[in-house]
Amino acid sequence: MKHRDISLSNEDKDICSASGCNNSPKRSLPRKRVEKVGALSLQGSNRKVQLCSDCYRIFKKETKKDRTMESLGR
Ligand SMILES: [Zn+2]
Repeated sequence: MKHRDISLSNEDKDICSASGCNNSPKRSLPRKRVEKVGALSLQGSNRKVQLCSDCYRIFKKETKKDRTMESLGR
C-alpha cells in the first residue's frame, strides 16, 4: 500500500528544466512539447518540464513561429 500520489517524488527540484538555467520555474509543460520545439535543451527526464519566465519566452517565441496560422483562428 505504498501508492501515494504526493507530488514530491515526481519533481526533481524547483528550478527551471532548461540546462544551465537555475531560475525558479514559472510554467510547467509537457516535455514532448518543449522537445518538439527544440529551442531549449532540457535536463532531467521528467515527463513534465518546468520553465522559468525567460525560458518560457524562448519556447513561446519558437512555437509561435511554428504555428502562426493557428493563432489566427482563435
Ligand atoms: Zn530557465
